[in-house]
Amino acid sequence: MFKAIFIEKDTAGYRVSLKALDEKQLPAGDVTINISHSTLNYKDALAIIGHIPVIRQFPMIPGIDLAGTVETSNHPDYHAGDEVLLNGQGAGEICWGGLAQKARLKGDWLIPLPKQFSPHQAMAIGTAGYTAMLCVLALEQHGVTPDKGEILVTGASGGVGSIAIAVLSRLGYYVVAATSRSQEHDYLKHLGATDVIERSALDTASKPLEKARWAGAVDVVGNRILAHICATTQYRGVVTACGLAGGMDFPVTVAPFILRGITLVGIDSVMCPRPDRLRAWQRLATDLDLAKLELIAHNIGLADVIPTARKLLEGKIRGRIIVDVNR
Ligand code: NDP
Repeated sequence: MFKAIFIEKDTAGYRVSLKALDEKQLPAGDVTINISHSTLNYKDALAIIGHIPVIRQFPMIPGIDLAGTVETSNHPDYHAGDEVLLNGQGAGEICWGGLAQKARLKGDWLIPLPKQFSPHQAMAIGTAGYTAMLCVLALEQHGVTPDKGEILVTGASGGVGSIAIAVLSRLGYYVVAATSRSQEHDYLKHLGATDVIERSALDTASKPLEKARWAGAVDVVGNRILAHICATTQYRGVVTACGLAGGMDFPVTVAPFILRGITLVGIDSVMCPRPDRLRAWQRLATDLDLAKLELIAHNIGLADVIPTARKLLEGKIRGRIIVDVNR
């Protein structure tokens, strides 16, 4: 038997519980993993609370991330005892995910745990941190070097935002963090933000073009804030868009694109090709200060997951949540 967060949906409604399941219930797959740690990402919280349809088949174990040790494998690249990592690939959405003590899945989805990280550290980074690094890589690929000017990071006290600030500041960028939480200004400066601004300053009805400020941006919010960022991005600046914490809408005009030549780069972590995933994790190993990770991470057990998901969606969680599934 193993413990898991279990989501059911039927005529009796949407139900989430911590359950003991039989290993025989695990789905088909060529690798079985003893999970040691998982995390609670924004998407996991959406799946658990159920207000937005993240899960595409039921019953489901949520959890888009996991780290653990291979128990058995029929995959040529993995053997019993190997430490592995999973981010996305549909885990917790179309197949059982990481908020459990065991998983069985396709070995092709896994990557070896980078030797620089413990399973706990890898989950402190998780999909949020790996996505933050995909944003940083996109800024670099589009020529945004530290000398170009200020980089804006929105949703700064959340998971993606916190790790984006830590990485960008270590790389020498001038980082401006946008947050709604005045009590977190010191935290954001400890992570490496040079300036902190109020989120409300970005949440205004924008003209098609406003005074140009940002050389680049990492945006997790979307909606009016993303539109405002585009309208205030410098000539040939680059905006990376990875989130929808403020909603799916995007009320922008073409003016920033055709008059300032800005680039808007969409970032997806779920189906990101393997070479790009590996590269992002390699860069996290060299460009993320692990001391900062300690500031960002908080630990919970499986039994705490459901109430913590609610708090996360209410914007009451700072940084990243690590779930010790055996606690
Ligand atoms: P968190 O909940 O950790 O952080 C989100 C932050 O966004 C909050 O801390 C808050 O920051 C800000 N925020 C929350 N609600 C609102 C709102 N209504 N309007 C404006 N800002 C808000 O989530 P993550 O950092 O893990 O994820 C952030 C976003 O990125 C989510 O939408 C998530 O789905 C998406 N994402 C996308 C991925 C991809 O592959 N494209 C991968 C990972 C995440 P503050 O209080 O500081 O203002």
